[in-house]
Parts: sequence; structure tokens; C-alpha cells
Amino acid sequence: MKDASCISCDVAVIGAGMAGMAAALFAAQRGLRCVQIGNGGSLLFASGLLDLLGVYPVAERRLWRSPYEALALLAREQAEHPMARLAVASIRSAFESFVTALASAGLRYAPLGEFNRKVLTSIGTVKTTFGVPRSMIAGAAALEARPPCLLVDFRGLREFSARQIVATLGERWPGLRHQRIEFPGAESAPELYAAHLARALESRLMRERTINLVKPLLGDARAVGFPAVLGLARAGEVHAAFEEALGMPVFEIPTMPTSVPGLRLLGALETAVSKLGVRRRHQASVRALVFSAGAGPATLELDGAQGGERVVARAVVLATGRFTGRGLTAYRGQVRESILGLPVHQPDSRETWHQRDFLDPSGHAINRAGLEIDSAWRPLDAAGRPAWPRLFAAGSILAHQDWMRAKCGSGLAIATAWGAVEQVARQLRRVGAG
Ligand SMILES: Cc1cc2nc3c(=O)[nH]c(=O)nc-3n(C[C@H](O)[C@H](O)[C@H](O)COP(=O)(O)OP(=O)(O)OC[C@H]3O[C@@H](n4cnc5c(N)ncnc54)[C@H](O)[C@@H]3O)c2cc1C
Repeated sequence: MKDASCISCDVAVIGAGMAGMAAALFAAQRGLRCVQIGNGGSLLFASGLLDLLGVYPVAERRLWRSPYEALALLAREQAEHPMARLAVASIRSAFESFVTALASAGLRYAPLGEFNRKVLTSIGTVKTTFGVPRSMIAGAAALEARPPCLLVDFRGLREFSARQIVATLGERWPGLRHQRIEFPGAESAPELYAAHLARALESRLMRERTINLVKPLLGDARAVGFPAVLGLARAGEVHAAFEEALGMPVFEIPTMPTSVPGLRLLGALETAVSKLGVRRRHQASVRALVFSAGAGPATLELDGAQGGERVVARAVVLATGRFTGRGLTAYRGQVRESILGLPVHQPDSRETWHQRDFLDPSGHAINRAGLEIDSAWRPLDAAGRPAWPRLFAAGSILAHQDWMRAKCGSGLAIATAWGAVEQVARQLRRVGAG
């Protein structure tokens, strides 16, 4: 008799952060029957900007215009870095597939091109990144040319201050001005939330009222920047309406987390993977993972799913992140992988986890802790052998990288998901043929 609470698939992806979403997407694009477990909460912190590789070497804080040249140097000098394992052509394909899938789900990015771009942050610093949402790209152009430019914010919106940005950049961008306006209909609200404003601006009436408040403030401005609140699921339409009505380039600047661009990213990725038939268990987590011998499947025991569902999978991708994602757990003396207790590459003792100086440019050893993998992206057991022939790992759980300092968060997630899924497909063909 068929077990009603058991679903079978080719590949189970554990994790729904950037790496888990990318892995589920790439697996489904290859025609693999995929189940994805985990909630996408970590994506809500994403700025929407897709970093590929901005800084290398980290200790020198060297910024790169071409992420591909930086990747080539990384591959020569730091072979153990997870992104050094991939051909540049694969990384290009991974990014192209990822943004094409986002576009098909209604979230458009500017064409990727060859170079990193510089964009403004919510505190007026400049961030080097690679993939820029269509709604932010005019900001990159404005930052480069520095024409007269107006930044608008809304009274009560805590996650963003146009005044702060102008104060930080003012001397280097003399034509940059700011204006604070009341959000229509919220004049007496003490606090505003970015997601509420974004939803409200999907209404044509609210858009028109907001645009009418901004028009008289334009002066000599040749571009206008707003906090990233111009729509949620219909962000493309809202952004286009602002550009048309104001008659000039309009750009968004990411706010502090949790961010509207993160919500958009999560929504678009959910749509993209669901369209491709990925079965998502977004309220569940994997409690246990049991492997059968030889070519048999793995069984995943889920918590939080109705009826204590089980998933039986021919292959598994572990994309559970680091400490905040809960993929790694720090115990008193050591760090372990959280589901299987896999060994983790880490400093010899807790005393050497961190540098004395918190801001040490070379970063902290603990940030490079993670899973060691073989050439097929399979995590290793204590004996240095693949823990299971068809268990793969992707994303920030991997060792020998410090994505935050290297400005390669999404790059690491997307590229390693591509690499791991390529190996999943290869291994499953082999098993199928065997
Ligand atoms: C504040 C912040 C800002 C960022 N800004 C940028 C940026 O501007 N540009 C950029 O490129 N990147 C940025 N990133 C990085 C990027 O978005 C990703 O967080 C990063 O690449 C790591 O992704 P990940 O999928 O490996 O791990 P995580 O995002 O940590 O995801 C891990 C996932 O695994 C799930 N999980 C863990 N254990 C289990 C289990 N037992 N069962 C089921 N699921 C489980 C978690 O619920 C989560 O969904 C930012 C990240 C943060 C936190």
C-alpha cells in the first residue's frame, strides 16, 4: 500500500535561502523531480543586489571592476575556494539562468554584462555588486555621472534616510538633494513600514497621489531616487509608472533589512520554482536524514509538515547555510554540521576563531569554517570520503570562503548550486544507467 505521508523524488534540496532556491531551480530546469524543504526567511534580508565577486584578496580589500578577472585570479591563488572549482563559463550560465528565471516570474534585472557596478546603500556608502534589479539600475548610472539628483524619503520610514545619504555623499556629489514627504493617507502614522508602502503603491490612486507630491520638488533634477518601496509583486509596473509620470530616470535604493527587494526575490523565486514543478515544503524542516546502502535512496524525516511527512530522494543537496541559517551549530569546543553531525573545517581552538581586532582586514577564521567537499561537491566524512555517494552541498555552508568580506554572497550561492546540481544530474544518470 502506498504511504500517503511519503513523497518520492529525484532530488531533495534542504534549505530555501539563495543557495537552496538556486539549487531547486537548476534541478527542475534539468527535468529532475525536486522537493524543497525549508523556509525562505533568510531571503528577506537580501538587498536584491546579486554580488558575484567584488573584493579579492579580502585582506587587501581590493575592489574589482571585472568579477570574471577577479574569479580567474581567485582560481589561480586559492584553489580550495568553492568558486574556484567552477569554470567561468559555468558561473556565467548559472547567473544568466537565475536572472532569466526571475524575469519570467516578473522580477527584472538589468542585463548582466561583464562588469561590476557601483550602487548607493541606505546609509550613503557605495556598494560594489554585479546583478542589479531593473528598478535600481538608474541609480548606478546617476552615481557614475553625478547629475543634479533628488532623493525622496517618507516621514516615519525608519529603514531609510535620504538626508543621511546626502550628508555622506554631499561634497562628492554637489547636485544631490533630499526632500522628505508625507506618505499619502499616512500623515498621522508615527511609523511606516517599507512592505506596507510597497503594497500601497501598487494602487494607481496611491501612485498618482505620491507622484503629485514629488513633481513640484523636482527642480533641476535629472534623476530621482526613492527607498526601495516601489511595488511588490508588480514592482516593474510601479517603477515604470513613476518614470513615465516624472519624465526622468527613477531608481530605488535598498533599505535596511527586512527589505522589499528581499520580499520580491523570495516571491519571484517561489513562483519560478513552483512553475517548474518543484514541490515545496516551506513550513517544514528536516529532522533526520537516513541513507540506504549502495544505490538506494535517502529518507528525510520532516518536522513541522502535516502528518510527519517523509521524503524519499535519490539524491540530496544540503544548502542549510551557516550559523544563522542553522546549517552549522557551534558547541563549546567545536562546530558541527547540524543535521548529520558532519565534520566541519574550522580553527584548531575556539581562541583562534576570531582575530584580536574585530575589524582585521583579513577577516576571522571562523567565517571560513564549513564543509569540506570532494571534486563532485560531496561533503566528506571524518575519514575524508564522501559521506554518502549522492549527498551534495552548496552555498555558504561550504568551507574556505568569507562571502561577506569578499562581496560574493549570491555568487557563491548561485554558482555552487549550479555546480552541485550538475553533479546530481551526472550521478543520477549513472545510477539510472547502472
Ligand atoms: C543581512 C544580509 C544582507 C545580504 N546582502 C546581500 C547582498 O547585498 N548581495 C548578495 O549577493 N548577498 C547578500 N546576502 C547573502 C545572501 O543573500 C545569502 O544569505 C548567502 O549567500 C547565504 O545563502 P545560503 O542559501 O547559503 O544560506 P542561508 O541564506 O542561511 O539559507 C539557509 C536555509 O537553510 C534552511 N535550513 C537550515 N536547516 C534546515 C533544516 N534542518 N531543514 C530545512 N531547512 C533548513 C534555512 O531555513 C534557510 O532557508 C546577504 C545576507 C544577509 C544575511
